[in-house]
Order: sequence, then structure tokens, then C-alpha cells
Amino acid sequence: MSGRLDTRAVHGGEERRGPFDGLTTPIAMSSTYTFESTEEIRAFVERKARGEPLGRYEYGRYGNPTQTATERKLADLDGGERALLFSSGMAAITTTLSTLLSAGDHLVVVGGVYRRTRGFAREHLPRWGIEVTFCAADEVDEAVRPSTKAVFFEVPTNPYLRVADVEAIVAAAKRHGACTMVDATFATPINLRPIEFGVDLVIHSATKYLGGHNDLLAGALIGPAELLKPIEDARGIFGGVAAPFDAYLVLRGIKTLPLRVRQQNESAARLAETLERHPAVERVHYPGLTSHPDHAAASRLMSGFGGVVSFELVGGNDAASACIDRLKIPYIGPTLGGVESIAQQQALFISPDPTERAASGIADGLIRYAVGIESIDDLVEDLEQALAGLPTERKSA
Ligand SMILES: *Cc1c(COP(=O)(O)O)cnc(C)c1O
Repeated sequence: MSGRLDTRAVHGGEERRGPFDGLTTPIAMSSTYTFESTEEIRAFVERKARGEPLGRYEYGRYGNPTQTATERKLADLDGGERALLFSSGMAAITTTLSTLLSAGDHLVVVGGVYRRTRGFAREHLPRWGIEVTFCAADEVDEAVRPSTKAVFFEVPTNPYLRVADVEAIVAAAKRHGACTMVDATFATPINLRPIEFGVDLVIHSATKYLGGHNDLLAGALIGPAELLKPIEDARGIFGGVAAPFDAYLVLRGIKTLPLRVRQQNESAARLAETLERHPAVERVHYPGLTSHPDHAAASRLMSGFGGVVSFELVGGNDAASACIDRLKIPYIGPTLGGVESIAQQQALFISPDPTERAASGIADGLIRYAVGIESIDDLVEDLEQALAGLPTERKSA
């Protein structure tokens, strides 16, 4: 639809007038769709065989009207031709990669992608004869080869919020005819428009900002209809479809996405500035700060720097745990992107074994603070009381 993002987030993809003249898109809670007669089935199957528009539904694993509305809204918002909704971000990622890649193909994964995506690329794809190279964002050109089918990257990354030069990665992939896929979960379509920079496929964990209320799991894939068609067919086989109720929650969540993301951008920036000035803080990772290594790329590519701030304390690991335990507003737990703030020492979720944690590349003492939509003044006051009295000088060894 036409109009600016805020208008499209509210109205995009939805019928102006729904069943019973309802304003909202209904939740179509049906696992199956019935036929009037045998003749109707014959006509339906023939249309399907000819690849013609079906104009109706058949069985829940192949789609439902609520999912269709959500997919239309997602495509509209990211400026893509089509979108597919999945039961989780990981279902979107695994279904997409295992459909596009075959034995003998090569995949380039830019380091710093979501830990489970890395696990899929490292432990599962090679079992099916797919070769995977992990590289840094500025090494894609050297990593790509004639057999490279796809380049997968993430912007911004978790938890260090690195912002790769999207245009350079796209150019390197295009030189070898490889498809580019970006997991833009942390950016959302409000802060980053990957398709406008030439990226082929955009992935979101809709569990995070798109849903926005910590009450659902879903994933989204946006891109050209031709690329999505085989992935849609594979989704019907692998079965990672979003339930109608979850599809509705994503649709509803997106209506307030621009408002929430703008608030979260602003709040995270305030927290980052507060942290950077605080003597108990060793280092702050936020792409909106001039001290961030990718500040220039982020300023060029993104219209907002996101709602996640990561930081390390002078007092190290113990100070980090103390700080998290003293925070009164954020919950302690995994995930991000909802209306509730969440803070955590991310490394502690990985393993009880310090060696395994170190291998993840995430410092034990690193705190990831994902802001919600609470009052920013309350969040700053809460953070200041949690940091008060923490060491401002390193203990000598
Ligand atoms: C959470 C997350 C995923 C996985 O999404 P789920 O919905 O939890 O399956 C993938 N990528 C990023 C960047 C994420 O934050």
C-alpha cells in the first residue's frame, strides 16, 4: 500500500472491510477448509497443477487467511514482493537454508550471527554435504567462491551490535551470483531497509520486535516471489507454520511497531550515554555512540540504532551479576524486543562450563540490556541505583 511506514504498519496487508463488517482481521481458527463437492476438489487440484491462484484454502499447514494478512503486511513493511510467516525465527532460518542449499553448495556465514543459526550451519548443513565458511564481515569477498550459493549475515549482531557494510557484502556476493540473506531482527524494518541496499532475503525473528509483547514465537522471511515459492512449498513439508492466533498477534504487534521502536531507540541511546559517563562502566557497545567501531556504517545505513545496549563493568563478572540483581525494572531472562525491559549476562545462558562460554566469544561479564517501553526516566534512575557503589577501579592482580 502507499503512504509512510507508520500508516502502512497500521493498514498494510489488511482488507478494508472484513467478514461481518469487522474492522479487525479475524483469527481463522480452522485446521482444515472444506469443499462443497467432489467437483470443487477436482477444479481446485487442476488450478493448483497449473500454478494458478487458488482463491481459497485447503489445509492449515499450507496457509490460512490470518497468516496471509500477516504475510502481506510483512512484505509491505519491508518493501519486498512477498513474505512467509513461520512458527519461529529458527523455523524461518532452517527452512530457508535447507531449501536453497543442496549437497555440493557452499554457504558463507558472517561471524556474530545468532548462536542457533551458527549451530545449524556448523552441525547440520555439513551432514547434508553443504560446505560452510565462517568469516568476518570484511572478509566476505575472499570467502565467496564459484560454488557459493548464499551469504548469510546479521545486522546488527548480538550482543556486540556490530553493523556490517551491507552494500559491500551484497557487492561481494553478487560478483559470484550468490544470494544474500540478512537476519535483521535487531534492526526491524523501521531502523534498516535491507532490500533497498540490494539484499535478496530478509529474515526476522517476529518473536522479538514485530510481535513486541513477549507472548508469541514466530519468524518471517521477505523477498522476491520467485525465490520464496520453493521455500513456501518446503514449509508445507517441514511444517514450521505459524498458528492462526500467533499470526494474529504478529499482525496486531506490527501496528504499534514504529511507535515502540522509536521509543526504544531513544531510551537505549539515553541508557548508552548514561553508561558511557559512569565511572563503574568499562565499555559500552551501542552503534549510536561515536565510540562504537561501526558508528559510521550504522549512521549511513540505519535510521535508528535500536533498543539493545551491551556493556561491561570495571568490576567484571561479579559486578555484572550484582548490577543485574539490583535492577528493579528489567526482567532477567533471554529475548528482547518486547514492551518489557530485559537484562541479562548473556554468557551465563550458554553453558556452566567457562571454557565453552569463552568459545562463544561473549564475555562472561557482558550485560545485554534490551529496553522496553517503560518511562526512560525510570529506567535511567533504576540503572543509576544499580551501578551505585560498584567498583570504579580494577582490582590489581
Ligand atoms: C531470537 C533470534 C532468532 C531466533 O528466533 P526464534 O523466534 O527464537 O526462533 C534468530 N535471530 C536473531 C537475531 C534472534 O534474536
